[in-house]
Amino acid sequence: MVYGEYQAGYLQRLKGQVDLVYRDGTFYLYATIDLPDETPMQPTRFLGVDLGIANIATNSDGHSYTGTAVETVRQRCATARKTYQSTGTKNAKRRLQKLSGAQARFHRWTNHSVAKRLVQYAKDTKAALVLEELTNIRSRMTVRKTQRAKQHNWSFRQLREFLVYKARQAGVPLLFVDPRNTSRTCSCCGFVDKRNRRSQAEFSCLRCGFTCHADLNAARNLATRGEVTHPDLIASSVGQMAFAW
Ligand SMILES: [Zn+2]
Repeated sequence: MVYGEYQAGYLQRLKGQVDLVYRDGTFYLYATIDLPDETPMQPTRFLGVDLGIANIATNSDGHSYTGTAVETVRQRCATARKTYQSTGTKNAKRRLQKLSGAQARFHRWTNHSVAKRLVQYAKDTKAALVLEELTNIRSRMTVRKTQRAKQHNWSFRQLREFLVYKARQAGVPLLFVDPRNTSRTCSCCGFVDKRNRRSQAEFSCLRCGFTCHADLNAARNLATRGEVTHPDLIASSVGQMAFAW
């Protein structure tokens, strides 16, 4: 068994069972380790996180985690897939399989990276993470139920999973709120109107004139909702902190 220095540090945490996986001519040993969760941090504020398409995630401080690389790979894969499909040979089929595996691994890597950065940022700035409840994510999307939409839904779920367990590991509180109207509510004055959302990317309040990127506006609303629904989370430094998974 070959492992790096990093893995060696975790050897004593190894659990009883490992999986042997064969991929592209190489054997991999997947070992599961037990990591103790960190002591929960006492947050001083809420950080809303909006999940989107152009930007994989946008937080309420205005930081975006872009999906440009993901989109580039998706397009490249789609083109290659078409070529292989039209060929139809055994070799093409094998390449096709390899391609979808590579694409899934790339998505996974991207989601890991985005989740890691978001959690670290929340920890550094003493913020509790606020995400929208899963049920309404799809209905908020303007894309139709195409292959692309399916892929995004799958990717969203994965990113959420990663965020939940990485937050728990890092001791960063994470909570879910009802996302209804977060995209059409002005994060500045609270005015709700569908027409506030000018386009996929643009938010402009009809009442107070506040303008910002639609993803950022939604993320700010999520942060506010976290504050309204869980005021106890930051209210006092005394007593136990509640985790709402
Ligand atoms: Zn407004």
